[in-house]
Amino acid sequence: MRYISTRGTAPEIGFCDVLLAGLARDGGLYVPQTWPAPAKSADEKLNATYANRAASIMAPFVGDEIDAKVFQQLCVDAYSTFRHPEVAPLIEIAPDEYLLELFHGPTLAFKDVALQLVGKLFDYVLTQRNERVMIVGATSGDTGGAAFDGVASCRNVDIVMLYPNNRVSDVQRRQMTTLMSPNVHAVAIDGTFDDCQDLVKAMFNDQKFRDANQLSAVNSINWVRVMAQVVYYFTALEKLGDSAVFSVPTGNFGNVLAGWIAKQMGASIDGFVVASNTNDILTRFFESQQMTAHEVVPTLSPSMDIQVSSNFERLLFEMNNRDGAATAKQLTDFRSTGELIVTPSIYAKWISGVFAGYRCNDEQTLATMKDVYQQTGMLIDPHTAVGLSAARQSIGVNYPKDQSIITLATAHPAKFPDAVRRATGQTPELPEHLADLMSRPERITSLPNNLKSVQAFVAKCH
Ligand SMILES: *Cc1c(COP(=O)(O)O)cnc(C)c1O
Repeated sequence: MRYISTRGTAPEIGFCDVLLAGLARDGGLYVPQTWPAPAKSADEKLNATYANRAASIMAPFVGDEIDAKVFQQLCVDAYSTFRHPEVAPLIEIAPDEYLLELFHGPTLAFKDVALQLVGKLFDYVLTQRNERVMIVGATSGDTGGAAFDGVASCRNVDIVMLYPNNRVSDVQRRQMTTLMSPNVHAVAIDGTFDDCQDLVKAMFNDQKFRDANQLSAVNSINWVRVMAQVVYYFTALEKLGDSAVFSVPTGNFGNVLAGWIAKQMGASIDGFVVASNTNDILTRFFESQQMTAHEVVPTLSPSMDIQVSSNFERLLFEMNNRDGAATAKQLTDFRSTGELIVTPSIYAKWISGVFAGYRCNDEQTLATMKDVYQQTGMLIDPHTAVGLSAARQSIGVNYPKDQSIITLATAHPAKFPDAVRRATGQTPELPEHLADLMSRPERITSLPNNLKSVQAFVAKCH
């Protein structure tokens, strides 16, 4: 399997190079040359563990770059850190209404599903090659902790994560700042998540700096993260034994894109509800065929406080019939004018009937959390609540009343205790391994929203 860039001019590369590169040299994102079909028998599906299913679903993407037995063992190791034996259990909360719990990993958000595997892969590939990298990234809250946990024990990796100061929850911040491994560095930036993401992109686009510091990325622009998320769409449907709609609480569009890829690979998915909070650029796009960036506003679901969804570029590339030059132009124009318009025929072919966008403000988020608590006794986190509210809004509009709909539960309620308390009066408990998180000492660096300062810090850590 070879990989190409969504902007059309970077050279084709294989799986291990894609893993380490993150962003392509032309500023684009890597995608596989073709979407493979998974070729596994029904018996194997039913008996396999999550890790073994994962290895077989991802095998065509890895190709022959990593031995199949080695890759399977890396998957076993990655998913052994999860507290639930099914890794991603499917829970029915009402007739035809399900949650897919993706938060049983070490840092309590779905990002562990991909980043535990990414950490194992980095360690394996870098050891094989006898190389060292500096991972730089931006986090709206959950990627930072999950990436640190994934790579803290890698001997050949240093990692710097930028997060927007005062815009992540205390638990999220502490999951980054209380890790004492000398190779991990959390940096509070005086700005928004989009500012952090722009700083990371600028470091990657500075070729001299990129090479001198051996930059690498584990943000959701890294293909391997998207790839690892394809797996649970298959396992959820196998567990359900039926087709379904997925409602996905969305920020950078990585998770929902992984679902779209599962659909290209033959998963029986009836459609996607793209759930946004008040930062609803995607909802407005799905309503108007026009993408217009607004200011980011802070909400109760901070991991989705994003306006520019970087993984949307991969879908845009498909919508442009994989024309990299057209995609690059569209994105450059978007940068300068703040507007991106899709023609009605492209919209009809790629979006209509597949994606439906819904928004959910803080009030609706709290109401949904409260309703679930009253109906089932379960506490859900605010991101999951945005997804569930959107799912419920879509039923009777885009889908019939008896449509099975699976909402991705993207974070553990204890990651957002303030919102949970406000909605339900209950305080969710942190799992045992994090019970003393709030009393551990923190290690923080603060920097201005300024490329030179950030580059100087990265160079010092390298
Ligand atoms: C990252 C995150 C999201 C958004 O996922 P994307 O792949 O960026 O769309 C939603 N919920 C939680 C809890 C997250 O951490």
